Amino acid sequence: MPPSDNESLIELKEVEFTYPSDKDRCVLNLPEWKVSAGERVLLIGESGSGKSTLLKLLSGILVPDRGSVRVAGMALETMHSRQRDRFRAEQIGYVAQSFNLIPYLSAVDNIKLANYFAHESTNNPRVLEAASVLDDLNVTELHWHRPIRELSAGQQQRIAIARAIINRPRLLIADEPTSSLDQSNRDNFMSILMKTAETHEMTLVFVSHDLTLGSYFDRIDSVSDINMGG
Ligand code: ADP
Ligand code: MG
Repeated sequence: MPPSDNESLIELKEVEFTYPSDKDRCVLNLPEWKVSAGERVLLIGESGSGKSTLLKLLSGILVPDRGSVRVAGMALETMHSRQRDRFRAEQIGYVAQSFNLIPYLSAVDNIKLANYFAHESTNNPRVLEAASVLDDLNVTELHWHRPIRELSAGQQQRIAIARAIINRPRLLIADEPTSSLDQSNRDNFMSILMKTAETHEMTLVFVSHDLTLGSYFDRIDSVSDINMGG
């Protein structure tokens, strides 16, 4: 395999992906797609255009039928599923649409859970960083140990970001996290997320169908331009 471009945190080549239950339809056919280290990319596309599928390939939840998915120097298609699980826990921070926080656990326990999955040990010193990350994100100590369901939407967003970055991932992935937020919560969420990505020099791939978010990003890619399948 030729040496890969060191500048790219993400490098997809000749990637094809088909869901096993729908073998006749190639959901993704990406001749080439690259994201540089530190770059912040908005990925735009209609519902059903393959955005979430692409994110799952980047995090090694899915593997391509053909081609190569290189993230942070690792060729994911060559790894065993346990190696990919470990890669995901260590290198990928993920913010989902509904944030996927566990409502009956506290902020600190939600974050500890992410840390537990990454290091398979609860006495890792980085568990102690939960408090400092929450502090950085302006979640006051008063709210660290209350169940998530008792906190405001704004606090929950910040806790979701804290959980995504606790393991200091190289790549932060966000799958339509703002789609159910009102304007002011959306603006708030975006500025906190962008500031966090910048502070920790994380690469960001952010999926949305909302083009008005474009000004926050270095680059806007449309799935219809990079995907020959679908
Ligand atoms: P987006 O995130 O852009 O809305 P998805 O990546 O979720 O799109 O889906 C792309 C296409 O793949 C859609 O047509 C969807 O119906 C199909 N798809 C998604 N998940 C599955 C699955 N588990 N099995 C079969 N088809 C799927
Ligand atoms: Mg989706």
